Amino acid sequence: NLKGKRAIVTGSNSGIGLGIARELARAGADVVLNSFTDREEDHALASDIGREFGVNARYIKADMANGEECRALIEQAGGCDILVNNAGIQHVAPIEEFPTEKWDRIIAINLTSAFHTIAAALPGMREKGWGRIVNISSAHGLTASPFKSAYVSAKHGIVGLTKTVALETAGQGITCNAICPGYVLTPLVESQIPNQMKVHNMDRETVIREVMLLRQPSRQFATVEEIGGTTVFLCSPAANQITGTTISVDGGWTAL
Ligand code: NAD
Repeated sequence: NLKGKRAIVTGSNSGIGLGIARELARAGADVVLNSFTDREEDHALASDIGREFGVNARYIKADMANGEECRALIEQAGGCDILVNNAGIQHVAPIEEFPTEKWDRIIAINLTSAFHTIAAALPGMREKGWGRIVNISSAHGLTASPFKSAYVSAKHGIVGLTKTVALETAGQGITCNAICPGYVLTPLVESQIPNQMKVHNMDRETVIREVMLLRQPSRQFATVEEIGGTTVFLCSPAANQITGTTISVDGGWTAL
Protein backbone atom coordinates (compact mmCIF):
# COMPACT_ATOMS: atom_id res chain seq x y z
CA ASN A 1 0.00 0.00 0.00
CA LEU A 2 1.42 3.31 -1.12
CA LYS A 3 -0.94 5.55 0.85
CA GLY A 4 0.76 8.81 1.82
CA LYS A 5 3.52 8.43 -0.78
CA ARG A 6 3.86 11.07 -3.49
CA ALA A 7 4.80 9.82 -6.96
CA ILE A 8 5.98 11.96 -9.86
CA VAL A 9 5.75 10.35 -13.31
CA THR A 10 7.39 12.29 -16.14
CA GLY A 11 5.74 12.22 -19.56
CA SER A 12 2.48 10.87 -18.22
CA ASN A 13 -0.36 12.44 -20.19
CA SER A 14 -0.49 9.36 -22.45
CA GLY A 15 0.67 5.79 -22.94
CA ILE A 16 2.95 4.03 -20.46
CA GLY A 17 3.40 7.05 -18.16
CA LEU A 18 -0.34 7.45 -17.74
CA GLY A 19 -0.70 3.70 -17.15
CA ILE A 20 2.00 3.83 -14.46
CA ALA A 21 0.38 6.85 -12.78
CA ARG A 22 -2.97 5.04 -12.73
CA GLU A 23 -1.51 1.86 -11.18
CA LEU A 24 0.40 3.88 -8.54
CA ALA A 25 -2.85 5.72 -7.72
CA ARG A 26 -4.73 2.40 -7.58
CA ALA A 27 -2.13 1.32 -4.99
CA GLY A 28 -2.94 4.45 -2.97
CA ALA A 29 -0.17 6.87 -3.96
CA ASP A 30 -0.76 10.56 -4.62
CA VAL A 31 0.40 11.25 -8.16
CA VAL A 32 1.85 14.12 -10.13
CA LEU A 33 1.34 13.88 -13.89
CA ASN A 34 3.62 15.75 -16.28
CA SER A 35 4.20 16.65 -19.88
CA PHE A 36 5.36 19.70 -21.84
CA THR A 37 1.83 20.91 -22.69
CA ASP A 38 -0.56 22.82 -20.42
CA ARG A 39 -4.00 22.01 -21.79
CA GLU A 40 -7.31 21.64 -20.01
CA GLU A 41 -7.35 17.92 -20.85
CA ASP A 42 -3.92 17.45 -19.19
CA HIS A 43 -5.31 18.75 -15.89
CA ALA A 44 -8.54 16.78 -16.43
CA LEU A 45 -6.53 13.53 -16.64
CA ALA A 46 -5.21 14.25 -13.14
CA SER A 47 -8.61 15.13 -11.67
CA ASP A 48 -10.09 11.95 -13.19
CA ILE A 49 -7.39 9.82 -11.51
CA GLY A 50 -7.93 11.65 -8.21
CA ARG A 51 -11.66 10.99 -8.33
CA GLU A 52 -11.38 7.36 -9.50
CA PHE A 53 -8.86 6.26 -6.87
CA GLY A 54 -9.50 8.74 -4.03
CA VAL A 55 -5.95 10.14 -4.05
CA ASN A 56 -4.44 13.59 -4.56
CA ALA A 57 -3.56 13.98 -8.22
CA ARG A 58 -2.26 17.00 -10.06
CA TYR A 59 -0.69 17.88 -13.37
CA ILE A 60 2.48 20.01 -13.60
CA LYS A 61 3.78 21.26 -16.94
CA ALA A 62 7.53 20.91 -17.45
CA ASP A 63 9.57 20.31 -20.61
CA MET A 64 11.90 17.36 -19.98
CA ALA A 65 14.18 18.66 -22.76
CA ASN A 66 15.11 21.51 -20.38
CA GLY A 67 17.24 20.75 -17.33
CA GLU A 68 15.97 23.66 -15.24
CA GLU A 69 12.35 22.67 -15.90
CA CYS A 70 13.16 19.08 -14.87
CA ARG A 71 14.44 20.30 -11.51
CA ALA A 72 11.56 22.80 -11.17
CA LEU A 73 9.06 19.93 -11.62
CA ILE A 74 10.40 18.19 -8.50
CA GLU A 75 10.44 21.44 -6.54
CA GLN A 76 6.91 22.49 -7.58
CA ALA A 77 5.60 19.07 -6.59
CA GLY A 78 7.15 19.51 -3.13
CA GLY A 79 9.55 16.61 -3.67
CA CYS A 80 8.55 12.98 -4.09
CA ASP A 81 8.84 9.53 -2.52
CA ILE A 82 8.54 7.77 -5.88
CA LEU A 83 10.13 9.14 -9.04
CA VAL A 84 9.35 7.51 -12.39
CA ASN A 85 11.42 8.78 -15.32
CA ASN A 86 9.28 7.84 -18.29
CA ALA A 87 9.25 10.74 -20.79
CA GLY A 88 10.71 9.58 -24.07
CA ILE A 89 10.70 10.16 -27.81
CA GLN A 90 11.99 8.22 -30.83
CA HIS A 91 13.51 9.02 -34.22
CA VAL A 92 14.51 6.45 -36.82
CA ALA A 93 17.24 7.12 -39.42
CA PRO A 94 20.59 5.69 -40.52
CA ILE A 95 23.37 7.26 -38.45
CA GLU A 96 24.94 9.25 -41.30
CA GLU A 97 21.54 10.84 -42.02
CA PHE A 98 20.53 11.22 -38.37
CA PRO A 99 19.80 14.93 -37.74
CA THR A 100 22.05 16.31 -34.98
CA GLU A 101 19.14 18.19 -33.41
CA LYS A 102 17.14 14.93 -33.18
CA TRP A 103 20.12 13.20 -31.54
CA ASP A 104 20.47 16.04 -29.01
CA ARG A 105 16.74 16.10 -28.26
CA ILE A 106 16.50 12.32 -27.72
CA ILE A 107 19.52 12.32 -25.40
CA ALA A 108 18.07 15.31 -23.52
CA ILE A 109 14.55 13.91 -23.03
CA ASN A 110 15.30 10.17 -22.74
CA LEU A 111 18.50 10.39 -20.65
CA THR A 112 19.58 13.80 -19.32
CA SER A 113 16.13 14.59 -17.87
CA ALA A 114 16.56 11.65 -15.46
CA PHE A 115 19.94 13.03 -14.30
CA HIS A 116 18.23 16.31 -13.37
CA THR A 117 15.08 14.87 -11.76
CA ILE A 118 17.07 12.32 -9.72
CA ALA A 119 19.54 14.97 -8.53
CA ALA A 120 16.62 17.19 -7.47
CA ALA A 121 14.59 14.41 -5.81
CA LEU A 122 17.33 12.61 -3.85
CA PRO A 123 17.87 15.08 -0.97
CA GLY A 124 14.19 14.78 0.04
CA MET A 125 14.30 10.98 -0.19
CA ARG A 126 17.43 10.87 1.96
CA GLU A 127 15.75 13.05 4.59
CA LYS A 128 12.86 10.58 4.82
CA GLY A 129 15.10 7.52 4.54
CA TRP A 130 12.83 6.11 1.84
CA GLY A 131 12.65 6.50 -1.90
CA ARG A 132 11.95 4.59 -5.08
CA ILE A 133 13.37 5.62 -8.45
CA VAL A 134 12.08 3.74 -11.49
CA ASN A 135 13.56 4.57 -14.88
CA ILE A 136 11.70 3.43 -17.98
CA SER A 137 14.39 2.07 -20.28
CA SER A 138 13.54 -0.42 -23.05
CA ALA A 139 14.52 -3.74 -24.59
CA HIS A 140 16.67 -1.25 -26.53
CA GLY A 141 18.48 -0.53 -23.24
CA LEU A 142 19.90 -4.07 -23.46
CA THR A 143 19.98 -4.82 -27.21
CA ALA A 144 20.12 -2.73 -30.38
CA SER A 145 18.23 -2.32 -33.63
CA PRO A 146 19.53 -0.54 -36.72
CA PHE A 147 18.53 3.10 -37.38
CA LYS A 148 17.81 3.85 -33.71
CA SER A 149 21.27 5.11 -32.67
CA ALA A 150 20.10 7.93 -30.40
CA TYR A 151 17.29 5.94 -28.77
CA VAL A 152 19.46 2.85 -28.16
CA SER A 153 22.29 5.03 -26.77
CA ALA A 154 19.94 6.91 -24.43
CA LYS A 155 18.23 3.70 -23.25
CA HIS A 156 21.59 1.99 -22.58
CA GLY A 157 22.67 5.20 -20.84
CA ILE A 158 19.70 5.13 -18.50
CA VAL A 159 20.68 1.60 -17.43
CA GLY A 160 24.16 2.89 -16.50
CA LEU A 161 22.67 5.84 -14.64
CA THR A 162 20.36 3.43 -12.79
CA LYS A 163 23.32 1.33 -11.56
CA THR A 164 25.31 4.41 -10.51
CA VAL A 165 22.43 5.93 -8.53
CA ALA A 166 21.80 2.55 -6.87
CA LEU A 167 25.40 2.51 -5.62
CA GLU A 168 25.20 6.12 -4.38
CA THR A 169 22.00 5.36 -2.43
CA ALA A 170 22.67 1.78 -1.25
CA GLY A 171 21.68 1.17 2.38
CA GLN A 172 19.75 4.45 2.61
CA GLY A 173 16.22 3.05 2.11
CA ILE A 174 16.33 4.19 -1.50
CA THR A 175 16.32 1.92 -4.55
CA CYS A 176 16.87 2.74 -8.22
CA ASN A 177 15.90 0.30 -10.97
CA ALA A 178 15.06 0.29 -14.66
CA ILE A 179 12.13 -1.40 -16.40
CA CYS A 180 12.89 -2.60 -19.93
CA PRO A 181 9.64 -2.99 -21.87
CA GLY A 182 9.41 -4.70 -25.23
CA TYR A 183 6.62 -3.55 -27.54
CA VAL A 184 3.78 -2.01 -25.52
CA LEU A 185 0.45 -1.23 -27.15
CA THR A 186 0.19 2.53 -26.56
CA PRO A 187 -1.67 5.09 -28.71
CA LEU A 188 1.70 5.80 -30.32
CA VAL A 189 2.17 2.17 -31.41
CA GLU A 190 -1.54 1.76 -32.28
CA SER A 191 -1.27 4.70 -34.70
CA GLN A 192 1.50 2.92 -36.66
CA ILE A 193 -0.63 -0.15 -37.39
CA PRO A 194 -2.74 1.22 -40.30
CA ASN A 195 0.38 2.41 -42.15
CA GLN A 196 2.20 -0.89 -41.58
CA MET A 197 -0.90 -2.74 -42.88
CA LYS A 198 -0.69 -0.68 -46.09
CA VAL A 199 3.10 -0.98 -46.51
CA HIS A 200 3.07 -4.78 -46.06
CA ASN A 201 -0.38 -5.36 -47.56
CA MET A 202 -1.36 -7.43 -44.51
CA ASP A 203 -4.40 -7.47 -42.25
CA ARG A 204 -4.17 -6.10 -38.70
CA GLU A 205 -3.49 -9.41 -36.95
CA THR A 206 -0.78 -10.46 -39.44
CA VAL A 207 1.05 -7.14 -39.34
CA ILE A 208 1.06 -7.21 -35.51
CA ARG A 209 2.31 -10.82 -35.40
CA GLU A 210 4.73 -10.94 -38.31
CA VAL A 211 6.06 -7.37 -38.46
CA MET A 212 5.67 -5.51 -35.17
CA LEU A 213 6.12 -8.44 -32.76
CA LEU A 214 8.73 -10.27 -34.85
CA ARG A 215 11.33 -9.98 -32.06
CA GLN A 216 8.88 -10.55 -29.19
CA PRO A 217 8.63 -14.37 -28.84
CA SER A 218 5.30 -14.24 -26.97
CA ARG A 219 3.88 -12.45 -30.05
CA GLN A 220 1.83 -10.43 -27.60
CA PHE A 221 2.14 -6.76 -26.71
CA ALA A 222 2.91 -5.85 -23.13
CA THR A 223 0.24 -3.56 -21.67
CA VAL A 224 0.58 -0.24 -19.85
CA GLU A 225 -1.13 -1.91 -16.86
CA GLU A 226 1.66 -4.51 -16.76
CA ILE A 227 4.36 -1.82 -16.81
CA GLY A 228 2.40 0.00 -14.08
CA GLY A 229 2.12 -3.21 -12.05
CA THR A 230 5.88 -3.80 -12.34
CA THR A 231 6.45 -0.25 -11.08
CA VAL A 232 4.13 -0.86 -8.09
CA PHE A 233 6.05 -4.09 -7.34
CA LEU A 234 9.36 -2.16 -7.34
CA CYS A 235 7.79 0.20 -4.76
CA SER A 236 6.61 -2.69 -2.55
CA PRO A 237 8.47 -4.15 0.49
CA ALA A 238 9.21 -7.34 -1.52
CA ALA A 239 11.54 -5.21 -3.64
CA ASN A 240 13.47 -3.58 -0.76
CA GLN A 241 16.72 -5.29 -1.80
CA ILE A 242 16.18 -4.97 -5.54
CA THR A 243 18.38 -2.08 -6.66
CA GLY A 244 20.66 -1.21 -9.55
CA THR A 245 19.10 -3.74 -11.88
CA THR A 246 16.77 -4.09 -14.84
CA ILE A 247 13.44 -5.91 -15.12
CA SER A 248 12.46 -6.90 -18.63
CA VAL A 249 8.76 -6.92 -19.53
CA ASP A 250 9.28 -7.96 -23.13
CA GLY A 251 7.62 -11.32 -23.85
CA GLY A 252 11.06 -12.94 -24.13
CA TRP A 253 12.70 -10.46 -26.55
CA THR A 254 16.02 -10.28 -24.68
CA ALA A 255 16.12 -14.05 -24.11
CA LEU A 256 16.52 -14.63 -27.85
P1 NAD B 1 3.98 8.09 -25.68
O1 NAD B 1 4.39 8.95 -26.83
O2 NAD B 1 2.56 7.65 -25.58
O3 NAD B 1 4.39 8.79 -24.31
C1 NAD B 1 5.50 9.61 -24.17
C2 NAD B 1 5.20 10.61 -23.09
O4 NAD B 1 6.30 11.48 -22.94
C3 NAD B 1 3.97 11.45 -23.44
O5 NAD B 1 3.21 11.64 -22.28
C4 NAD B 1 4.61 12.74 -23.91
O6 NAD B 1 3.75 13.84 -23.70
C5 NAD B 1 5.81 12.80 -23.02
N1 NAD B 1 6.85 13.69 -23.52
C6 NAD B 1 7.41 13.72 -24.75
N2 NAD B 1 8.29 14.74 -24.82
C7 NAD B 1 8.31 15.34 -23.62
C8 NAD B 1 8.98 16.46 -23.08
N3 NAD B 1 9.85 17.17 -23.82
N4 NAD B 1 8.73 16.81 -21.79
C9 NAD B 1 7.83 16.12 -21.05
N5 NAD B 1 7.16 15.06 -21.50
C10 NAD B 1 7.39 14.68 -22.78
O7 NAD B 1 4.95 6.83 -25.71
P2 NAD B 1 5.04 5.57 -24.74
O8 NAD B 1 5.06 4.42 -25.65
O9 NAD B 1 4.06 5.62 -23.66
O10 NAD B 1 6.53 5.76 -24.15
C11 NAD B 1 6.80 6.06 -22.80
C12 NAD B 1 8.21 5.59 -22.44
O11 NAD B 1 8.29 4.18 -22.59
C13 NAD B 1 9.30 6.18 -23.33
O12 NAD B 1 10.44 6.46 -22.56
C14 NAD B 1 9.57 5.05 -24.31
O13 NAD B 1 10.87 5.11 -24.82
C15 NAD B 1 9.38 3.85 -23.40
N6 NAD B 1 9.13 2.60 -24.11
C16 NAD B 1 8.01 2.44 -24.91
C17 NAD B 1 7.80 1.23 -25.56
C18 NAD B 1 6.58 0.96 -26.44
O14 NAD B 1 6.52 -0.05 -27.12
N7 NAD B 1 5.56 1.81 -26.42
C19 NAD B 1 8.73 0.20 -25.42
C20 NAD B 1 9.86 0.40 -24.61
C21 NAD B 1 10.04 1.60 -23.96
